[in-house]
Amino acid sequence: MSDTLARATRILQDVFGYPEFRGQQADIVTHVAAGGDALVLMPTGGGKSLCYQVPALLRDGVGVVVSPLIALMQDQVAALHEAGVRAEFLNSTQDWQQVQAIERRARAGELDLLYMAPERLLAERGIALLDQLEVALFAIDEAHCVSQWGHDFRQEYLQLAVLAERYPAVPRIALTATADAATRREMIQRLHLQDARTFVESFDRPNIRYRIAEKDSPRRQLLHFIREEHAGESGIVYCLSRKSVEETAEMLVKEGIDALAYHAGFTATERKERQNRFIEDDGVVMVATIAFGMGIDKPDVRFVAHLDLPKSVEGYYQETGRAGRDGQPAEAWMVYGLADVVQQRRLIEQSEAEEPFKRAANAKLDAMLGLCETVRCRRQYLLGYFDQVGEPCGNCDNCLAPPAQHDGTEAAQKLLSCIYRCAKYSGFAFGAQHIIDVLRGKRTEKVLERGHDSVSTFGIGAEVDETQWRAVLRQLVTLRLVAIDHDHWNVLRLTDGSREVLTGARRLTLRQAAAARPADRRRRKTAGTHPVAAPGSPQEEAVFQALRAWRREVAREHGVPAYTVLHDTSLREIARRLPDSAALLGSVAGIGATRLVRYGDAIVQVVRAARPAPIG
Ligand code: ADP
Ligand code: ZN
Repeated sequence: MSDTLARATRILQDVFGYPEFRGQQADIVTHVAAGGDALVLMPTGGGKSLCYQVPALLRDGVGVVVSPLIALMQDQVAALHEAGVRAEFLNSTQDWQQVQAIERRARAGELDLLYMAPERLLAERGIALLDQLEVALFAIDEAHCVSQWGHDFRQEYLQLAVLAERYPAVPRIALTATADAATRREMIQRLHLQDARTFVESFDRPNIRYRIAEKDSPRRQLLHFIREEHAGESGIVYCLSRKSVEETAEMLVKEGIDALAYHAGFTATERKERQNRFIEDDGVVMVATIAFGMGIDKPDVRFVAHLDLPKSVEGYYQETGRAGRDGQPAEAWMVYGLADVVQQRRLIEQSEAEEPFKRAANAKLDAMLGLCETVRCRRQYLLGYFDQVGEPCGNCDNCLAPPAQHDGTEAAQKLLSCIYRCAKYSGFAFGAQHIIDVLRGKRTEKVLERGHDSVSTFGIGAEVDETQWRAVLRQLVTLRLVAIDHDHWNVLRLTDGSREVLTGARRLTLRQAAAARPADRRRRKTAGTHPVAAPGSPQEEAVFQALRAWRREVAREHGVPAYTVLHDTSLREIARRLPDSAALLGSVAGIGATRLVRYGDAIVQVVRAARPAPIG
């Protein structure tokens, strides 16, 4: 073991309380500690922070961390204080005196880490401060914010190139969880990282179980999911519209679930309050638009649910990635249906954007739909999207209960003919509900009024129920074998591809519709070949809950989020091992020297009080 690695490992253990580095952390840490530049691509929850925190502690001077997210900055600093690290931040929330005090400490060499908002750092005052400091390294977090094509673009990030010019001797490490090749090139170019070593960590998140089910009544499905599988746990529910956010939150609250709504329509203060409640409490369900989430670093989010289809696989991956950052079992759950496909396509078609942008947006949506419709392992599909390979995972719905497939050629032909016949008969086209009614031979008012009970396709699909027909139609739309005309009341039209199916030149294998497939009912805690240990006995659970209650108290006293005191992972391990001395506690992951001194005795007492009496 190199000398640097030995010292780094000692810091990891003593300060952060972890026995060993994960994945490429050790390589990254030693590379940066030796003065090298690095570009680190690691999924959310992969452990990016330690990649710059440890080298900052190893090197002389203060590590300067550029982070665009104020909330995240504050939580990180709070967590570092808990671990006994001298860290501070500079951002717009502080008054003059606070700023001066921190700057003074930085100049006096009393800080190990200094977090700065980019506009702070780039201001004259920021640069003047940096000029006076011995800087150990620059860490540029969320480095994809330099990408002008990305959804998180930050103007100020473009100016961070100045760091390379002004402080050429200081190592720089840029980190992100966005991995596609185009963004990577942009980061290298704009941040002047041509000589940096690139580290790409696997994007697999093995503890997240992916599930995508067909939508029938989404709110009822959601309620069932939360009640049956995640009662009392933290989660995020994503909806597309503000209205749907509010209605869903209201429904959950009415059903006795501790839910909050969050979207850009609330005032900054309201948003802040809600976000804090979510972060600090143990079991809040946040119902939100995608305005919520970036910079939410809460490790114990047990599920992320989507009631509406994300626009892209990147979006889906980023949003679901907020689940299970602590490595414990977590779920990414989504329901989707035909209406989602129609809505997303319409949003693209009716946007003001230029043609090339629309084409790109449609391609992204197609990839997302592919993830929904695939009958293969969802994780393999996701990793494939990021150019990575994986084996079938055994921890997604498709692996746990392989979906039924059927030869859908005949059904597709019936549906396509019905669209054609009705339009020909009336001289104009019709929407999904009407076409399905005609197929099923239903004599609705509209069918009779239009005389469609006399077209040749009337009733040819009576043996198949409505859910199945919708599933067939959805897949045809996904495959672009049916088009939906958004400018004319969403009527259905044939496409260039339809002909091949109608003539039998192209055969189709479709996913069988099923309202509730077995995997959906199976309990997370009993199913699967998942590597992460399942929660154990009732006794263990009792100790765990007692520890959580203790942690809540401490967090309240210190005014910090509960997880910064100690993670669920550590509490679980304590509950499992029942250490009855502070010395034994020291070997629990997440308990470093500072926490041991601070909390050791208290924890041992909680364990003693809560654990079952010995038998005999
Ligand atoms: P990211 O910024 O990549 O999303 P974090 O740096 O917040 O991830 O780390 C995610 C979680 O993993 C944190 O709870 C962190 O304490 C934990 N972690 C990181 N590295 C290790 C390690 N080597 N051993 C154990 N836990 C780790
Ligand atoms: Zn799988």
